[in-house]
Amino acid sequence: MAVYDFSGKVVLVTGASRGIGKVIAEEFARAGAVVCGTATSEDGAAKIEANLSSIGKGYGFVLNALDLDSAAALAAAVAEKCGSAPDILVNNAGITRDTLFMRMKDADWDAVVTCNLTAVARLTKACISPMMKKRAGRVISITSIVGEIGNAGQCNYAAAKAGIIGFTRSLAKEVGSRGITVNCVAPGFIDTDMTKVLGDDALKHWLDNIPLKRMGQAQDIARAVLFLASEDASYITGATIDVNGGLHCA
Ligand code: NAP
Repeated sequence: MAVYDFSGKVVLVTGASRGIGKVIAEEFARAGAVVCGTATSEDGAAKIEANLSSIGKGYGFVLNALDLDSAAALAAAVAEKCGSAPDILVNNAGITRDTLFMRMKDADWDAVVTCNLTAVARLTKACISPMMKKRAGRVISITSIVGEIGNAGQCNYAAAKAGIIGFTRSLAKEVGSRGITVNCVAPGFIDTDMTKVLGDDALKHWLDNIPLKRMGQAQDIARAVLFLASEDASYITGATIDVNGGLHCA
């Protein structure tokens, strides 16, 4: 991992209890930031806080992204705890409810679009006003290769993740003059709980199509996120960085 210094920065990472978000939060803590990470349970939030505190400075919060009204309360709680609103927001929390579209229940559509897209917009709205006042900030959202190329069985997820890309480009145009960059990272096939549920056939299909012939690791995604949050990326906005071992070329 490149050495960045995020001392003095407050970072909020949603879905920091496991997988990609956990590693992103840990890397920001290593780089000197005050890191706030969310889980869906009190127990998860406590574990985040203990883990981040063993690395640097960090706090755990509870967030259920399906409860859209909780976004403003979370942003306020982070600002109160850290003495500053987030300088860097990483919208990472996400869920899947996969099935073919013809069989997809409305509830599965609604949950995935709410958690993966509408909640991203709500939390970004809650965090961006203080960034505009500071005339600085970073919003980084985790989309997916599926939002770019589609995937049978994931119409809800693909729609939500494609929505993040359009949201990112549009918001980048709105807030660029205030010194805020808005970007996405689009992971491919990453080794986390989300992909552990896939069977051997699916695993083989993906690996056969990845030019670099391996699943990605959460660390691969964290590297791109910290880069986008850093001064090195100060002239990048509205972008989607593909981190997928070349899968998008297949
Ligand atoms: P993961 O291992 O399943 O972890 C999901 C995280 O989101 C956990 O911290 C979980 O908290 C949290 N979460 C779950 N439901 C939530 C809710 N309703 N409200 C708020 N937080 C919730 O997932 P991951 O693989 O690390 O994925 C992270 C992000 O990358 C997601 O946006 C995902 O769509 C995206 N992505 C992943 C892959 C991949 O191959 N893994 C590929 C492309 C994109 P709890 O621990 O409390 O449940």
